[in-house]
Amino acid sequence: MTNTPNSPLDRHESRLRWMDSIVAALFLLLLWWLVAEILYDRAGNLSQRVELRQQAWLQQASRAVDARLEALQREMQLFGQVSPGLAQQAASLYPLENGQLWLLEHEQLSQLQGPQQALPVRARDNMQQLLAQHPVHGKMLLLPASTADTPDRLQVSMAVCEDDSQPCERVITGFVSLTALLDPELLLPRPHFALLDAQGNQLAARHDSNDNGSSLLRTHSSSSTLSTVPLQLAVQFNPRDDLRPFMLFALFLVTGAALLSLLLLLLIVRVNRKLGRAMRHNREVTQATYLLTLTNNSLRERLQVLVDEQRDQQTLIDTVQVGVLMLDAEQQTLLTANEAALRMLGFNRQALFRQLPEQLFADPAQYTLLQTQLKEQQLVSEREVELVTRNGERLWTVLSMRPLLFRERRAIVLSFVDITERLLHAQRLEQEKQTTERTLAQLQSTQHELYQRATRDDLTGIANRRHFLSNAGKALEQARREQQPFAVAVLDVDRFKSINDHYGHAVGDSVLRQSASRITELLPEVALFGRLGGEEFAIALPGFTQLEAHALLDQLRDQLAAQPLQVDEHLLLVTFSAGVAERQLSGDLLSGLLKEADHAMYRAKRSGRNRVESARGTS
Ligand code: GH3
Ligand code: MG
Ligand code: MG
Repeated sequence: MTNTPNSPLDRHESRLRWMDSIVAALFLLLLWWLVAEILYDRAGNLSQRVELRQQAWLQQASRAVDARLEALQREMQLFGQVSPGLAQQAASLYPLENGQLWLLEHEQLSQLQGPQQALPVRARDNMQQLLAQHPVHGKMLLLPASTADTPDRLQVSMAVCEDDSQPCERVITGFVSLTALLDPELLLPRPHFALLDAQGNQLAARHDSNDNGSSLLRTHSSSSTLSTVPLQLAVQFNPRDDLRPFMLFALFLVTGAALLSLLLLLLIVRVNRKLGRAMRHNREVTQATYLLTLTNNSLRERLQVLVDEQRDQQTLIDTVQVGVLMLDAEQQTLLTANEAALRMLGFNRQALFRQLPEQLFADPAQYTLLQTQLKEQQLVSEREVELVTRNGERLWTVLSMRPLLFRERRAIVLSFVDITERLLHAQRLEQEKQTTERTLAQLQSTQHELYQRATRDDLTGIANRRHFLSNAGKALEQARREQQPFAVAVLDVDRFKSINDHYGHAVGDSVLRQSASRITELLPEVALFGRLGGEEFAIALPGFTQLEAHALLDQLRDQLAAQPLQVDEHLLLVTFSAGVAERQLSGDLLSGLLKEADHAMYRAKRSGRNRVESARGTS
């Protein structure tokens, strides 16, 4: 990320720098304005003072001119005494630059100008040697003294030449004091002349402390003695002397201001540098903060996504009605559980998490077995497993186990469905089924019994009258439809009453049962056998003609009569008389047939019993 140049921080920094520069510039402007003001003020004072001084000085000089001229005359007379030709030959006293004074012959002025002649002569130079080096013929020369050596006076020397053809040999040296007698107030030079010879002896001198000195470039020729000698007296006033304090002050002020400015600039540079560093640091911190904020926001969003995902996952597994437990595959601890699992096992979440997985199994070994199977990559799916609830109750479940990655860990998801209710329901169903089956059996039994009762004779177990009549009626009907013969027989035990009377009713019953049983055994399958009542029986024979029926009944009668019945300790020979009748083609009713057979049976009785008679004409 880069900080944009238009960021508020940069704008603030550039504003601060601009403000620094403006403040510094204003301060410097103020400083230099103050310096200029002070200097201007001082310069004004100075020029005013100089002007005043010049005016005063000119006035004084003007007043002193006469006395001065007089003094000059005297001095020139002295010069004349020293050298009569001097006054005549001395032409001018010329002021030269740089504070040097030259007293020159007027006519030779042009010859003296030039570097050789203008060589400065120091105060103590041997003028004789100097003249020898620079010969001057017939000229009078006033040589200057260096102000550097004697700032308060000028040394002048005169070369006196007797003859123009000969070089000058005699030199008179004197001093002109210009500054020693300066007026302390007006700073006016008060020239003081002292003429010395070559050996330094004073030949003439002028000391007048009250004399107000010479004038500037004033030429005087009013003296009668000097009328023939034009003389110019020039004393140059050096302004540097007056300007020096001002210059020193100005120099001090300007130097101070410059130093101050320099210091200020250095200060500003340092402050700016520090400010720049601070701003850079601040920018780095801002960038870092921004990056941190971005990172923080990104992390917070990621965290929110994870939290949402986790909540969604939890919501999802909470929504299903299947119990879900998530186990750590390595540490064998519970990682999470859904609401259904908590509800089924009766734990709250904290209590469940304190449990070891195997503690939830009724048989912990089963958990170990399932886990081993899972490790061997066997499918652990829909096993019937008995779990234990918090209350110690058994919970039958169908359970599956699968490995998966959960929150970046190897985990086992264990899902189970409570089948206790289902089992109970199945058990109830089973019980109900058994009850129903029992009831049904009872019903069947009852029904059978009822049927037996309804259709069977209680004593003999063969078809009772009603059942026989019903079945025989149907058989007769079928025979008629099929145009088949159909015969019936009616049997009556002979003299049964005497058996009852003689042996008892029970023996009579037994005789009836055994007789019925024996007849049943001897009859063909198609025959229908029933007890009509008392000791009277009937037989329906589908497909039998009367003749055939007769023969069959005879055979029965013979077999029964041939073997006595064993009743208790008694052997009883029991016979019966029977009448046989056959269905006619016109289609007789069963009742009519039975009636015919019954009639035939009575005929057999009447004929002596133990006989069979046919209804229609057969014997
Ligand atoms: P017949 O040869 O003329 O038929 O003489 P009978 O004695 O057999 O006939 P009768 O009609 O005179 O007597 C029948 C007796 O059978 C009368 C009755 O008491 C007896 N009896 C009827 N039903 C039963 C029964 O179920 N058990 C017993 N022990 N006797 C019965
Ligand atoms: Mg009878
Ligand atoms: Mg009888």
